[in-house]
This record gives sequence, structure tokens and C-alpha cells, in this order.
Amino acid sequence: MTGRIELENALFKTLSQKGYPEEDIIFIRKAFDLAVLKHEGQKRASGEEYIIHPISVALYLSEMNVDREMIATGLLHDVVEDTDVTKEQVAAMFGESVANLVDGVTKISKLKTASNNERKAETIRKMLFAMILDMRVIIVKLADKIHNMSTLQFLPVEKQRRIAKETLEIYAPLAGKLGLGLIKNELENMVLKALKPNVFEQIEKYSKEKESEKLDIISQVSKKLNQKLERSNIKYSIKSRVKHYYSVYNKMKEYNKKIEDIFDLYGIRIITETVEDCYAVFGIVHSLFKPLPGRFKDYIANPKSNGYKSLHTTVMVGNRKALEIQIRTAEMDMMNEYGVAAHWLYKTGNTMSDQGEFKWLESLKKVQQDELSPEDYYQTIRNDILREEIYVFSPKGDIFELPKGATALDFAYRVHTEVGHRCRGAKANGQIIPLHSPLKNGMIVEVITAKESLPKMEWISLVKTVDAKKKIRHFFSLIEKEKKDQLQENAKKQVKSTPTDIVREHEFTPKKISDKISSKTGDKIFIEMDGERNLLFTYAKCCKPIPPNEIIGFISRGRGLIIHRADCKSITCIKDFEERKVTVNWGHQLKNRIVAYFMRTTTNNKSYIELSNVMKKHGGTIIEFRIDESTISNDIVDGYFTIELPLKTNIDNLAKELSALPSISFLDRR
Ligand code: MN
Repeated sequence: MTGRIELENALFKTLSQKGYPEEDIIFIRKAFDLAVLKHEGQKRASGEEYIIHPISVALYLSEMNVDREMIATGLLHDVVEDTDVTKEQVAAMFGESVANLVDGVTKISKLKTASNNERKAETIRKMLFAMILDMRVIIVKLADKIHNMSTLQFLPVEKQRRIAKETLEIYAPLAGKLGLGLIKNELENMVLKALKPNVFEQIEKYSKEKESEKLDIISQVSKKLNQKLERSNIKYSIKSRVKHYYSVYNKMKEYNKKIEDIFDLYGIRIITETVEDCYAVFGIVHSLFKPLPGRFKDYIANPKSNGYKSLHTTVMVGNRKALEIQIRTAEMDMMNEYGVAAHWLYKTGNTMSDQGEFKWLESLKKVQQDELSPEDYYQTIRNDILREEIYVFSPKGDIFELPKGATALDFAYRVHTEVGHRCRGAKANGQIIPLHSPLKNGMIVEVITAKESLPKMEWISLVKTVDAKKKIRHFFSLIEKEKKDQLQENAKKQVKSTPTDIVREHEFTPKKISDKISSKTGDKIFIEMDGERNLLFTYAKCCKPIPPNEIIGFISRGRGLIIHRADCKSITCIKDFEERKVTVNWGHQLKNRIVAYFMRTTTNNKSYIELSNVMKKHGGTIIEFRIDESTISNDIVDGYFTIELPLKTNIDNLAKELSALPSISFLDRR
């Protein structure tokens, strides 16, 4: 482990080597001195001085050549949380911008790695929110993560696994999405080392054994290339690269291969000056070496959504050895490794002007605004937003971006909801494929639809995108609703045809429930959604639903779940109502029963008062009292009321009391 003095020297040496001007170094030195002073005496889990951590983070950032504010933030990122320094003091000494950056990183760290999904989702939501405000927060956070991962072995095993898993699920993909290729690879390698130490060692050992073979092949290829390229005007350089261990591991796992069978353990990279030169070099490479069919990828014409640009091809070299060659300009190379951080690369002085190239950020902003449940939020972030993407084409040549693992059915739903619903089969590159098989990069996907086709329930488990799942679920909830409406319609007809049979007792079978929740009014009524009862909700003011009204949940922006009557006119006109509505049901306390009676009554208010007196006596509640105005004649009207009663209430005795009420009549008395 490196000591504090060595790290200090390394940091300031890097700063001057990278050409940071004197004033920046003074600025960073000031942050350094404050961090050293304030963390004095604090220790890390590893037992080393705490200050080692912030200096390591700053060193990592300085190697990336980012702006001085980020490096100062690296040094100060824990002072507000762990020492007596306040945000205001940081602002006074280093400016608002550093204070906000420190605050952003602190906010993220405060929400410690949580074991439970709900808190985990909350942490990630906050982090991504801070990132949207200032992308630099996430770069400092990732540098922080890198150092924490490198000292992981000092934590309890269970915690190690949890942190490693979270890094793999969230932080590494996030780095990938931001184009921070180097950080992503480093994090993934560290995760592999933590979770699969044996595999890591095996790959490391094998790579070392192959070192001389690698050098041999590279010199062979370089020699041939040099001969050809020297005669052109193309300026270029050749780099060798080792494939990162985590992707070697993935290949072994995915294709069930031994490490000896992975051919692209290493590759070479040719760096040119211009895009034209990339294609020229590409032509020359193919004239010298036989390309492997289907291995050519043009990420210059079709950059990845994180901005990655390069040409990739795999060629045969010497005695049947396959070698991957990447060709790109120097600028692309820098962007591919430093991604979004390259915007602050010291010398370019760029701002975030081309953040717009990250299309996925738009989807992220949308997801941040949606009030998804913590579980749905986490799944959406993991499976849709952060997952590596693949590109497939429609037969017309339109390009579609989907998360890796997406199926033809996901594609169908992405094209259009109706295309999804009517999907019967799919073809990829002209061949019929199963609806559930994962699509591959570059496939031309054709959806076969039929008018009479309808979604199947099991599709929910076949599709990979949350979006497609939602659309299928929504379809089935609509079917459910139609069924219920039909039943209600039938019930109404029956009542009309037998008006004298008016005293019909509707008992709502109480569902098995917990007794934790009661609504605002204290009437022990609550709402169930997908079996989930622990929901925060409010009743809509426009239609004031009460049991046994058919109800519907509406996920509002900002006010959470709002319960409306299913037939409420005011929600159906909201533009995105269809996407935001959810199926909800009344849940009831076991110890209460809800009974509805049809009645004939007077049009004055007396009957309500009489009824509520009876309810008071029995500890029940009137939850609905309705008259049907179309039936009024001679001050007599038909209607119904719904009451909630403790289970112990003797319904027969109650019915006797009710029937004795002067203003209400029941034709069939029990
Ligand atoms: Mn930290």
C-alpha cells in the first residue's frame, strides 16, 4: 500500500506533467492542505490514514486530466460529511461550484450501500439526479468508487459482495453509458477479482503466458502494415491492447468456453488522424489479412449511444490466428476512453455542449420524473437505461436501439404497441426465430402480425424491457376492467327487471389483509395494488370515491397515487392517462364487513340521519348513501347505501332495526 507522502508526490508530479498551470496547482494545494488538516487522526477500515483515500481519488482524477474543480472535489469529497467543515466554508474558499460538487458526492455517499432494494433504488435515484444537474459529480463519484473497490478486501465478506454486485449492476454500466471506457473496465475487473478471485487469477496467469505470443503477432502485423502504409500519406500509430479480464470471463461464461478457446485475449489498435484515413487503413488491413466474415463493425457510421466510435474487424494472421483490429482517430480514441470526462479535459476547455449526444440521458430524465415503485425504478434503470445496447434494423432500414438481451417481442413493442399486441412471430435476417430469443447486434428484424392475434399472459416473462412488460400488463388490466364492467352492466339490468326484490345484500368477501393501514378518515379502508397494500395514496377531490365504487389508480406527477372512480370524467381527458393508470382494489380489514342495501326512501334528509344514528350505536360507518334521481316520484326515491360494520355485528338484528326506521323501507326483510 502506498503511503501518504508518496501519494502526495505522485499527485503534484502528475499535475505538473499534465501541464496544469501554476494557479491551478495552488488552488489544488489549498484543497489538499485543508483535507490533510481536517482528516487528521481519522482511519479507514484498512487501518491506514483516512487522507490516503481522498488523495488517491484526486490522483486518479488528475491522471484523467480533468479540471481543477473536480480534482479539488476529489480531495474534499468527505470533509463536509466526516469533519466539521461546512458547505459554506468550502464555497467561501473554493467557490460555489466546488461546494456543490462536494455536496453532490456527499449526498450520494450518505446513502450507504443498502441491502434492501427500496433503499438501493432511492440511493440510485438521488445519485442520478445529482448527475443530471452536474455530470462532474458522477466522475468524482466513480473515481471514489475505484479507490473504494481497490481496498474492498478490508471489509466483511458479505459487504464486499454487496458492494461488488452494486458496482457491477449500476456503477460500471453507468461509466460505460457515459463513455468512460477505462473506468468501466477497471471497475469490472475489480468486481471480478472480488467475486470470482479464482477466475481472475486464471485469466491473469494465462494472459501473462501469452505475453510473448502477443508481442510476436503484433510485430508481425505491424511489419506488414508499415510496409504498405509507408507508401501512403497516412499518419498512424499502432498500440497493442489486452482485452479486459471481465469481458474474457463473460465470453467464457456465455459460450461455455475454456480460456484457451478465447481468441481475442488481446488485439491491436491503429490510431489515425482523420476519419478518411480510418477507412483507408481498414481497406489496407483487409488487403493484407483475410477478414473473418460477420466480424466487421462500423461504429463510426453508427456510433454507440455512449458516443463510442471506431471500426472493428477480426482478421486471420499467420497460422490461423484470429486477431481483432480496431481503427480510429486520436480524438475518437480519447473520447472512447474518457467519454464525458473528456469535456473537461484540461486543454480542450470544452463545456458540456454536446451532452445532447447521449440520447439515453433523455430517457433517464423521463424515468426520474415518473413515480415508479422502487422495484420498478431499479429494474428500469438496470435493464433498460444502463444495460448495454444492441442495434437492430427494421426491414425498411430504420435503426432501433434496444437493451442487450431484448427479444423480438421487445422489438415489436418498441416499434408500436399495436405491433406488439398483434405479434405472431418474427424473422431475423429472413429466418424465423422464437419470440423469446435474444436479438443480436445488426440483425434485420421483421415482425409477423395478424389482426386476430392477441397478447398472451406469459409474454410478460418473455420480454426484457420494462416498457414492453408495462404494455402487456396494461392490456390485461383493460381486459379485466371490461369484464367487470360487463358484470356490473348485467347486475344493473337484473335490478331493474325486479324492482320489488330490492333488498339484496351484497357482501364483499373480505380479503386476507394486514391491519396496519387505515385511510385518512380512519375507516380502516385501504387500497391494494398488485397485492401491495402498503401504499400512500390520496382520494381524488373530483369524484370522491368510496367503497364499493369501481376505482382506478392514477399515478400523478408529484402527488403520487390518486384514487379515482373508474368512471371519473375528469381523468380520462388527461393526455397520458392511459400510461399512468394502474389497477387498484379496495382492501378491507378482516374484522369489518361491508354490506350494501337497496332501499326506497323519502327525498328529505331524514333517512340519512336515522341511518347514521343506528350506525353510531353499532360502531359502523356509512360509506355510501346514494339515490337514483331518475326514480323520484311523489317525494319517494330508490337508491342504495353501503355500510361498514364490525364482524361481530348481528346482521339480522341490525336489519330489524333498519327496517323499523320511518324513512327507509326494505321490501324483503331478513
Ligand atoms: Mn469517498
